[in-house]
Amino acid sequence: MNSKTLLARKRVALVAHDNMKAQLVEWAKYNKATLLKHQLFATGTTGTLLEDALDVHITKLMSGPLGGDQQIGALIAEGKIDVLVFFWDPMSAQPHDPDIKALLRLGAVWNIPIACNRSSADFLLTSPIMNQEYEATLPDYASYLNRKV
Ligand code: PGA
Repeated sequence: MNSKTLLARKRVALVAHDNMKAQLVEWAKYNKATLLKHQLFATGTTGTLLEDALDVHITKLMSGPLGGDQQIGALIAEGKIDVLVFFWDPMSAQPHDPDIKALLRLGAVWNIPIACNRSSADFLLTSPIMNQEYEATLPDYASYLNRKV
């Protein structure tokens, strides 16, 4: 079984759609002390709001609809993001719907813990393994990679 070691200090990506940004900022402020133990990444607009609210450095990617979701997906595929907190909006159509699906798909492909709302984010952040080294299993894609084409 393939695996990868996640360090105690996790690389956490934070993304919120416009209607969900206030909720994510409120959640992040409430959990500031815990979040500061980790390395934070975010899509552009979400990141700017979180930097203002938390007064911490956040690695900001492009705005989601301009490519930020895809950048986070690429970081996941490269093994550079450990946890995704993604407050996506279940009530509004988004111009970058294919990018959102792609991001969620890559999270599933690479066995990344994903929180999609405040409750799941609370459960994730308060998990003991959030602050411990953790051996995450990596799906075995060898048979796919070695398939006859
Ligand atoms: P934003 O992107 O943080 O730049 O608004 C979020 C998204 O819609 O993916």
